[in-house]
Amino acid sequence: MTREELIKLPKIELHCHLDGSLSREFIEKRLGRTVREEELSVSDDCKSLSEYLEKFEIPGECLRDAEGLEGAGYDILRTMSKDNVIYAEIRFAPLLHTSEKFNTKQVIEALLHGLERGKQDFDVDYNVIVCAMRHQSLEESYAMIRDAYTFLGKGVCAADLAGAEAIYPMSDFMELFEKVKEMGMPFTLHAGECGEVKNILDSVEAGAGRIGHGIAMRNHGEVEKLIKERGIGVEMCPISNLQTKAVASSSEYPLREFLDAGILATINTDNRTVSNTSMTKELEFIQRIYGIRDEEVLLLMRNAAKVAFAENEKKERMLKLYEEL
Ligand SMILES: [Zn+2]
Repeated sequence: MTREELIKLPKIELHCHLDGSLSREFIEKRLGRTVREEELSVSDDCKSLSEYLEKFEIPGECLRDAEGLEGAGYDILRTMSKDNVIYAEIRFAPLLHTSEKFNTKQVIEALLHGLERGKQDFDVDYNVIVCAMRHQSLEESYAMIRDAYTFLGKGVCAADLAGAEAIYPMSDFMELFEKVKEMGMPFTLHAGECGEVKNILDSVEAGAGRIGHGIAMRNHGEVEKLIKERGIGVEMCPISNLQTKAVASSSEYPLREFLDAGILATINTDNRTVSNTSMTKELEFIQRIYGIRDEEVLLLMRNAAKVAFAENEKKERMLKLYEEL
């Protein structure tokens, strides 16, 4: 597909962080000052994950009240509409935005208002994934997910675990997600991004419907087989993964390996602004670097429709769309 054809292709995005994907225009408006591009985005020679994480400081300042979160929801769907995204699962960590006067439910409601307004104006369908952060207490995370559960099917579709995987392994969170499973809240888990393959195995055991990144499965055929057999989706974010050094070089990136293993791999941006990317750019990148063919681009989109946390009827509709292309 040419660049023009890739732009036009209807896309599904399942792994996109709100704070890392705010437009510079929105951030400048919120802060009332100009912001340099290098304050928000990493360059191609990003050295490490910590350099990457620094870029979340400024956007965080824009998300401290209802107006900021509502505006952010509207802004991200505007950005996605230019990229021809038809359905997106947008994730954020509610507890990073709460304060004495602004509780979890109010935080989620504010974002949902903005997203709903954006959906009407830009015709991009959405769901929200709430992220528990690894550094936060298990009690706080559980309470947050319980609050989020009241929005399940009304804008919220799932939970997630994000943050410093190398410091806090998945084994610390087994009980938390046991309770989340009992609650009936679906979840995806960041695993095998900058941590070991054990985190992926623990995530499968915990009952994750999807895995974020999953890079550590590389060269572990038996884990790949398990992921395939369980029908667990893998949310890959190629440009981000190379920037954060989740893999040392592009030749080590396991996209082709995962596709060959029959895994339900999907392509995502992770952080549109921090990584200076879009779905179109990601698809262009994997075509160029990994020789991904047109039918594989469509397969990646069908995979996303299959493993989305949307209602079945919506998933069927999306699947049909790609079968007709
Ligand atoms: Zn992520």
